[in-house]
Amino acid sequence: MAFLVTDAVVLHALDYLETSRIYRLLTREAGVQSVLARGARRPRSRFGSAVDLFAEGEAQLSVRPTRDLQTLTAFDVTRARPHLAASLERFTGAAMLAELALCFARDDAQPLLYDAVRSGLDAIAAADDAPGAAREAALAGAWHVVAQLGFAPTVDVCCSCRAVVPLADRVPFSHPAGGVLCDVCARLERASRSLPASARHALGHWLRGHPAPVPAGELDARAHQRLLREFLGEHLTEGRTTRAFQVWERGMA
Ligand SMILES: [Zn+2]
Repeated sequence: MAFLVTDAVVLHALDYLETSRIYRLLTREAGVQSVLARGARRPRSRFGSAVDLFAEGEAQLSVRPTRDLQTLTAFDVTRARPHLAASLERFTGAAMLAELALCFARDDAQPLLYDAVRSGLDAIAAADDAPGAAREAALAGAWHVVAQLGFAPTVDVCCSCRAVVPLADRVPFSHPAGGVLCDVCARLERASRSLPASARHALGHWLRGHPAPVPAGELDARAHQRLLREFLGEHLTEGRTTRAFQVWERGMA
């Protein structure tokens, strides 16, 4: 048995038996870990009430390499993110981002992915109350996570021949080929969609972990959600739409 002390963020929480909880954590040192917190729901639990969904802090795990469920021995919360539960748009966006990380992160150290998830959650929590602001922060966070998972689509060069694709009103985009296409390759590959210049610009910013310079309008944001869903289906989820994503996309209707 070994002890691990690591930064961690709670991405899923589940009550277990009478007094305990099971958490799924994204950790900086060891990727996704499922942990049992014994007695976490007792009134005077050593974990305190702050260890809840989307909270972040320093976790101490007792690890047995042969087991899938490790033991959480302490969790010192440094950031609770209660704002994420304050609106449906924030909550569903954060849940979508959490699901993305839980489904596709490995169980080894992925510090850049860890930072993408935590900054994505922070951006959703900090989004202003204007309708669509939290959704856009979630879009940005999801594309940044996709990039850290190693699946970033190309936006500046052709995904097939790597030629620079000049800025134009609309460019063809292929999900299977993995990005925008130049004129020549667009004749050979089947484009899935065409991306307006503004969407391509926003996507480029989000993949690098930055907000888009101009917020997307309602229709553009919905087109972005569709593009993200199709891209995840092509590269990560084998065509299925994961549950939290469905709720997030539908919740805005
Ligand atoms: Zn090309």
